[in-house]
Amino acid sequence: MVKGLTLVNTGPGKGKTTAALGLVARALGHGQKVAFIQFIKCQETGESQFLADLAKDRAENFFFCRHGQGFVGRNPSQADRELAEEGLRQAEALAADYDLLVLDEINVALSLGLLDPAAVASFIQNRPLALNLVLTGRGCPANIIDLADTVTEMTDVKHAFRAGIPARPGVDY
Ligand code: ATP
Ligand code: MG
Repeated sequence: MVKGLTLVNTGPGKGKTTAALGLVARALGHGQKVAFIQFIKCQETGESQFLADLAKDRAENFFFCRHGQGFVGRNPSQADRELAEEGLRQAEALAADYDLLVLDEINVALSLGLLDPAAVASFIQNRPLALNLVLTGRGCPANIIDLADTVTEMTDVKHAFRAGIPARPGVDY
């Protein structure tokens, strides 16, 4: 059996979630089973609509769920912590049944202290051997970077938002 890889998309630049969505397309194209769990975020986006539809149409090989209630400030609530912990438990429950598991924005949950980095590290180390795992979000902690096989740091060279261009459907959400 080929050992699965752990990939991290982090950094302040745009493209962390969109790159993970690209891997979803790639894995599904190979007939692999894919699960996508999103932490923190809850707003409707093009991808949340698309992934929810895909999960309905192709329930046998694609799973999608969200464990967030939107923006989390500097003082997260107990509900924020519980939701993030639920997301991690969901990941543990699904891991054995999928080829690719995306934990979108989990790095943000870690950097805000909603999840224990040691618990996520233990999940990575004890996951089923063949599972490919993707963790996205800015602020990935060092212990997770140490465990990952491929780490991409998106650099914020320029972002249209800073030129006063508001977020656009199909590009930003
Ligand atoms: P995307 O979902 O576009 O791949 P991302 O996952 O790298 O972005 P997030 O931190 O999850 O980045 O933020 C998602 C939203 O924030 C998107 O609308 C994206 O365009 C916007 N965004 C990402 N990076 C920046 C930035 N450096 N400045 C302003 N807005 C940003
Ligand atoms: Mg993102």
